[in-house]
Amino acid sequence: MGEAKRKREAVLNGPCPCASARAARDCCFVGQNWHRPATALGLAELPPASVIDRCYMKELNSCVGPISGEHLISVSVIEILQGDGGFSISGVPWLEAGEEKIMAPKSLRANCLCTKHNSALSPIDDAARYFFLSLKTYLESDTAAPRHALVSGHDLERWLLKTAKALAVSGNLARGREKLSGTFAQDDALIGMLDDPAAWPASAGVYCLMNTGDLMVNHARFQLVPWMNEQDEIVALQVSILGFIFVLLLEPLDIVTYPMLADAKYRPARITIAHPKSNSWLTLSWQDGQVHEALNVQFVQNVPQENSAA
Ligand SMILES: [Zn+2]
Ligand SMILES: [Zn+2]
Repeated sequence: MGEAKRKREAVLNGPCPCASARAARDCCFVGQNWHRPATALGLAELPPASVIDRCYMKELNSCVGPISGEHLISVSVIEILQGDGGFSISGVPWLEAGEEKIMAPKSLRANCLCTKHNSALSPIDDAARYFFLSLKTYLESDTAAPRHALVSGHDLERWLLKTAKALAVSGNLARGREKLSGTFAQDDALIGMLDDPAAWPASAGVYCLMNTGDLMVNHARFQLVPWMNEQDEIVALQVSILGFIFVLLLEPLDIVTYPMLADAKYRPARITIAHPKSNSWLTLSWQDGQVHEALNVQFVQNVPQENSAA
């Protein structure tokens, strides 16, 4: 057996980079490519139960109480982002524009989902946790061996949407100190978009504002800035996380309205993080029938934890 073939066999027989604990050849290596299918949440198929007024999925008629008091931002994700330091947040009504606060994120609770619907969304929390854990690990350390993680991009998009919805419904989105109504232009379609990636309009989804070759600055900050239309409805969310800047666009792309997205990378297929000793890959799989480009970033630099904003 040739060296290349031997390496390929080792990868296919090794653990799948989606972290399923199955061998890659029996899991997400399909044909010649890596593909992790979007997680089926089955929101529309939940058995009929009750309607709980404060749950934003009450129209499904499958609420099971009580209201869950869920965290605004998944605790598993916050724990990764804060590491040994603080977790800072900005873009909330009790902070001035541009101000950041390091805080105890477990105190940020929403009351906008019933227990049933909160737990129905938990698989996308797991996907987001794995993505951010891999991203942070790859940014912060260099190893001799290449590393690879595989996540469904649709799971990540839906996690961002779910997080934004919780922030909006609980009155935690602001422009400056002005609290926003929290209405999404896509509110009628939102549950469908959480349930099924195929329900997203064409060219809606995540845009990465970083460019290939950009210098990455790793920053334990989660910043979420809503973009509004003229009716003061939320149409997109700009998210800064670990030094990356993403925009989650919830409607079709109109370059005249969003010129800053003209050069952004739509649904990157892979984020490659280049270190002096090795490259690490985060593969994002998409099932929208389009071909997506990769994004390469280099020369990671860690930002020391600041305590000034505490
Ligand atoms: Zn897999
Ligand atoms: Zn519910």
